[in-house]
Amino acid sequence: MADLVVDHVSKTFPTRSEPLHVLRDVSLTLSAGENLAIVGPSGSGKSTLLQIIGTLDRPTSGSITLDGDNPFALAEAKLAHFRAQRIGFVFQEHHLLPQLTVLENVLVPTLAEGSPGKEAVEHARELLARVGLGERLEHRPAELSGGERARVGVARALIHRPALLLADEPTGALDRATASVVGELLVKLQAQENTMLIVVTHSQELAALMQQRLELNNGHLSPQPPSQ
Ligand code: ADP
Ligand code: MG
Repeated sequence: MADLVVDHVSKTFPTRSEPLHVLRDVSLTLSAGENLAIVGPSGSGKSTLLQIIGTLDRPTSGSITLDGDNPFALAEAKLAHFRAQRIGFVFQEHHLLPQLTVLENVLVPTLAEGSPGKEAVEHARELLARVGLGERLEHRPAELSGGERARVGVARALIHRPALLLADEPTGALDRATASVVGELLVKLQAQENTMLIVVTHSQELAALMQQRLELNNGHLSPQPPSQ
């Protein structure tokens, strides 16, 4: 069985008039080491789907299982732990904490378990070296370029060795050349870590780096037709 199963997920937001059906019967599966791009126009529900897969929001109907576990059956505190341990998030806005160093930023997700031990610090250093920032450990985010901040975001997402890596427009704020470097880095680390990766993007260049491309349209998810 696949490691991630998204099964008949629908999401409807109530509004003052007609309810908004953002996702309609969306299903997908993914296994360790596989990656996938979800493309679609702005407002098509890409972020909503990623939030649900990331357990940050709940589906109106349908289910998600990760390595056989249903996160939505968990109580809130257990769900937060599940999310922190098993899912890594990369965002367009990297939400780095300006007062912390690069190394400290990568360690932020571990702080919920108390101050980071030697092993966590070693792992953070190693990840930062692998994203090409081994010489920048003590720098603050303001001293980095946009591409370097994005790389810190990738390292931070991997600190708990997640089974699933989710990226919402990870290169959306970067120029084309930098976006391509960061996209390739993301795929390289995902392969090395043997995690699953889902990237939501409107960038065809980024989508082209993934093994599979699906398109969201009118709430339906289907294979992206090959470009003309
Ligand atoms: P995308 O990421 O593809 O641009 P989103 O998933 O952000 O699209 O949004 C899809 C649709 O759902 C949009 O019409 C948006 O306004 C609506 N939407 C998203 N979140 C909410 C919410 N919490 N409440 C109501 N409507 C929402
Ligand atoms: Mg979005």
